[in-house]
Amino acid sequence: MLTIDGSLGEGGGQILRSSLSLSILTGKPVTISKIRAGRKKPGLMRQHLTAVEAAAKISNAEVTGAGIGSTELRFTPKEILPGNYHFRIGTAGSTTLVLQTVLAPLLLANSPSSVTVEGGTHNPFAPPYDFLERAYLPMLRRMGPGLTAEIERYGFYPAGGGKFTVKVEPSQQLRGLSVLERGEILHRRVVALVARLPLAIAKRECAEMEKQCNWPQSCFETGEVLSNGPGNILLMELAYENTAEVFSSNGDIGTSCEKVAKDLWGEARKFIASDIPIGPYLADQLILPCGIAASRGETSMFRTCRLTQHSTTHIELIKQFLPISVEVTPQEERSCLVTIRPAQ
Ligand code: AMP
Repeated sequence: MLTIDGSLGEGGGQILRSSLSLSILTGKPVTISKIRAGRKKPGLMRQHLTAVEAAAKISNAEVTGAGIGSTELRFTPKEILPGNYHFRIGTAGSTTLVLQTVLAPLLLANSPSSVTVEGGTHNPFAPPYDFLERAYLPMLRRMGPGLTAEIERYGFYPAGGGKFTVKVEPSQQLRGLSVLERGEILHRRVVALVARLPLAIAKRECAEMEKQCNWPQSCFETGEVLSNGPGNILLMELAYENTAEVFSSNGDIGTSCEKVAKDLWGEARKFIASDIPIGPYLADQLILPCGIAASRGETSMFRTCRLTQHSTTHIELIKQFLPISVEVTPQEERSCLVTIRPAQ
């Protein structure tokens, strides 16, 4: 039984989620201790418990220690069971993170799957649905599997109730990824969305973004979306020849529209001004599929910014499960080249 220390490095939910994915893929039982020790409220929250239940469902696993607040879990998977799944978080917890827990094993299953998740779709500190659809899944598709995503309802804090479905056509092998240059910009778009709130909020956010970005008016859109509760999200999508990024900023009660826009621009501006193809969030999330590809003989390389603690922690974690080596080579302007290859 492999024991993973959940307080490793960043000490968050990613250690739990990726440990579950890797346990299923490798068939290695795992004990995860000190779960989310680095967070204000350590242990399993509703979203993490749903991730554990989802992982158990798709692998017919035996689980002990799965309860709210639990800081230790034992997980023994049996087999990968592709199929049609529907997971409900029951709070506004992040649906995209629950999906990511089960996605990697289903990419390599022996028949297709469909996964519907209900909960929050646009949460702070988690990938917004648009990032999943437009930045993360396109990278995974390049590695071989077929993936489509469709959102039915948006889910914002605190009401949740958002819903999307991802369909997975697995592949027998994951190809290595090579993303060294962005290529030309193909498309740039700012979208301000509101649910059960005045459209004027979205219009003010777009007006502020127009001032900040200085792009043609055709790049800005506002819209109203279906949701169980009120919510507001400002998104920026950047599509290049070889990569795509989605930045987001959540509108909260007490935060002005202008501040929501300035926060988004503050983050996106640095990325736009650099020539880095893989942003900081995408980098930490690609480490898992690239690690799996490497354990099956395929090398991946990508250029990103200086590694975040999520990325360094993720690298240390996957090395505990998989026979791979990871090299991080510093490059100009605080960027680096990450190479993930089979162990020699
Ligand atoms: P954890 O905090 O360990 O539960 O992990 C959070 C995950 O959400 C990490 O993989 C982050 O890269 C990802 N994440 C956080 N914020 C964003 C964002 N704005 N866009 C995309 N991914 C994000």
